[in-house]
Amino acid sequence: MARYGMVIDTTRCNGCYNCFLACRDEYCGNDYPPYSLGQPMTGHFWMRIIERERGKYPKVKVAYTAVPCMHCDDAPCVKLAQNGAIYRRRDGIVLIDPVKSKEQKNLVSSCPYRVIYWNEEKQIPQKCTFCAHLLDQGWKEPRCVEACPTGTLIFGDLDDPNSAVSRALASGKTELLHPEYNMKDKVTYIGLPKRFIAGAVVFGDKDECAEGVKVTVTGEDGKKVVQTNNYGDFELEGLLADKPYSVKIEAPGYKSQKLDVKTKIDVYLGDIILAKSTAKKKSAVKKK
Ligand code: SF4
Ligand code: SF4
Repeated sequence: MARYGMVIDTTRCNGCYNCFLACRDEYCGNDYPPYSLGQPMTGHFWMRIIERERGKYPKVKVAYTAVPCMHCDDAPCVKLAQNGAIYRRRDGIVLIDPVKSKEQKNLVSSCPYRVIYWNEEKQIPQKCTFCAHLLDQGWKEPRCVEACPTGTLIFGDLDDPNSAVSRALASGKTELLHPEYNMKDKVTYIGLPKRFIAGAVVFGDKDECAEGVKVTVTGEDGKKVVQTNNYGDFELEGLLADKPYSVKIEAPGYKSQKLDVKTKIDVYLGDIILAKSTAKKKSAVKKK
């Protein structure tokens, strides 16, 4: 018996919504008793894509985070449901019984991830089922995973060390979307959006993009080093939120610069002009 889980690699997600559309295609107007009844044509997001705009002009980007039911091993929805209306199968999939859950609207607010939706017409709560009906027929993955063109959604048997999902977990890069909920989620993430520090370095004497300049960012999570690209741009991702960092910019023959920043929001430092170190020394001699 498999024990199903998912890893979502947000660094690959381009916000195409194929997963969401595949889910709608599978469930809108289709009943799969005893696991689910048809999803309404509007208002439900069993696979929700959170879009977050990051940074400020001219350094702006959008982070997409796919959020299905986490199929938690310690799920408050299971605990709150009356008559076993929400239950966990032996393979770990958490399901809402469409018959037993009738009229239990309070279950919508039992999930802190807010992934349970109310079907007004049928008077039942509904959510992602990991396509349990398809897995029972021998499918290896749910429709959303099959539809994802970028490999963002990685699904499989958590107890098989060779499965793609187990290998993703073994990478040590995964984390929970909300560890503070403490619900033993079986959906985990790679590359959740945190904070970035970015800037553009210019050689002041030539008024040229400063390519290949060393940028060192140091904070309580350690030291990270990158080099500017051929436009003089640099970017460091995955930094801690609301923490102080120092940014050191070094190029041979130029005076180093050190900037102190706080990652309350994503930080774009704009143009950083490097001055020739020899020019500085001459001006210092003149002053004497
Ligand atoms: S994510 Fe929410 S709906 Fe899904 S199992 Fe956990 S508590 Fe229940
Ligand atoms: S299908 Fe894949 S790439 Fe497209 S939005 Fe969903 S998770 Fe992201």
